[in-house]
Amino acid sequence: MQYVERVLKELKEKNPNEPEFHQAATEILNGLKPVIEKHPEYEKAALLERFTEPERVILFRVPWVDDAGKVHVNKGYRVQFNSAIGPYKGGLRFHPSVNLSIIKFLGLEQILKNSLTGLPIGGGKGGSNFDPKGKSDNEIMKFCQSFMTELYRHIGQDTDVPAGDIGVGGREIGYMFGQYKRIRDEHVGVLTGRGLSYGGSLARTEATGYGLVYITEETLKCRNDSFKGKTVVVSGSGNVAIYATEKAQQLGAKVVALYDSNGYIYDKNGIRLDVVKQIKEVERGRIKEYANRVKGAEYHEGCKGIWTIPCDIALPCATQNEIDEESAKILVKNGVKYVGEGANMPTTLEGIAVFQKAGVVFLPAKAANAGGVATSALEMSQSSGRLFWTFEEVDAKLKNIMVNIYHNMDNAAKEYGCEGDYVAGANIAGFLKVANAMMAHGIV
Ligand code: NDP
Repeated sequence: MQYVERVLKELKEKNPNEPEFHQAATEILNGLKPVIEKHPEYEKAALLERFTEPERVILFRVPWVDDAGKVHVNKGYRVQFNSAIGPYKGGLRFHPSVNLSIIKFLGLEQILKNSLTGLPIGGGKGGSNFDPKGKSDNEIMKFCQSFMTELYRHIGQDTDVPAGDIGVGGREIGYMFGQYKRIRDEHVGVLTGRGLSYGGSLARTEATGYGLVYITEETLKCRNDSFKGKTVVVSGSGNVAIYATEKAQQLGAKVVALYDSNGYIYDKNGIRLDVVKQIKEVERGRIKEYANRVKGAEYHEGCKGIWTIPCDIALPCATQNEIDEESAKILVKNGVKYVGEGANMPTTLEGIAVFQKAGVVFLPAKAANAGGVATSALEMSQSSGRLFWTFEEVDAKLKNIMVNIYHNMDNAAKEYGCEGDYVAGANIAGFLKVANAMMAHGIV
């Protein structure tokens, strides 16, 4: 049996009931086959076995008391996956669906994504099955403080630097940072995505969404094309979706749809982002409200229907496995030309195959949404150097990083005989640096 097949088989046997982790590992390891063929020494060093086994998995309980005095207990996770090229770095997700499989798939992806940024950051991920929806500010604070009361002993500015993800934005980072500082008595860059008044970076809020559009823009540019006049469908209506919409609109595209986990809005005149920001960022409300406020806009219950809207560019920015084979086929039939993944693993393996077969240019998450973590690394640099860069400075660095990621993955795909296959290109470009460092460190 070939090395990749054997490692995948063993990984599934050793980690049963982790379907998302299996899915991510399958996509990554299959994409790495041309590299493995060129480097027989990797098998001898059990490199793939070590690469797919986290260095450390931390599981803990998170007890907290709600406003009515009831005690709740959630699960807390931090997977410190790989520190070969730098301290662990990756977000915290608070969502009821969170389990070890999801955190491990995100952590594995994060290793290669962080490597692709060209910055010295390893891969990690964490979170909790806590559901922030419907909780008061006080309950969110209590939960975040309890979560950090355990997590603090495992992280540090040179060890592991978490950030936000689904359900963890500026408010949650603030509460967690406050608790870390209180326990450790250290004002250091141990979390990124911090507020501007206590060490955060300008443009971090916008970074993932803007970065997604910058890499898509470069992809278009290399095909003598642009966002101007394009119809775009964006899924989600959280941090990534909002700022992807903002930048796409600034570049002349018309974004016609967004969703949250209840349903989607369609506005043929182009989404009014001021209304979305008011509903989502200020009121923390539901996207349904948009149709009550904007004339001519429609609201439809359920999410899947969003992919039946004809578009030139699809930017899935909500969660894993949003686009399955059926939705991919509908998108192709309706003429989609480019798909850029803002969320992590939003397309199933079958969905990716549909896009690739149809010649749709497909930008995988680990490249396309790397702008968030790249800017987090810029926040780390500013913290260490006690610096504060302007919005324009950070934005320019972000754009430069995204353009470089595009060309690195494009070149890797060409060099390894799979031109235009950016799934393979991103995996290869990200992996080579990590593999090189792991080989240099010996069997650890
Ligand atoms: P947010 O919590 O800000 O927004 C998430 C959005 O996705 C919300 O609109 C949410 O709707 C929707 N959503 C979540 N789960 C589901 C679901 N199961 N079905 C339908 N809709 C869902 O998160 P982010 O914008 O930060 O993250 C979005 C994606 O981008 C994630 O995959 C994340 O891992 C990825 N990402 C984020 C980065 C960042 O910097 N924030 C960096 C790189 C990747 P609702 O409010 O109804 O739950």
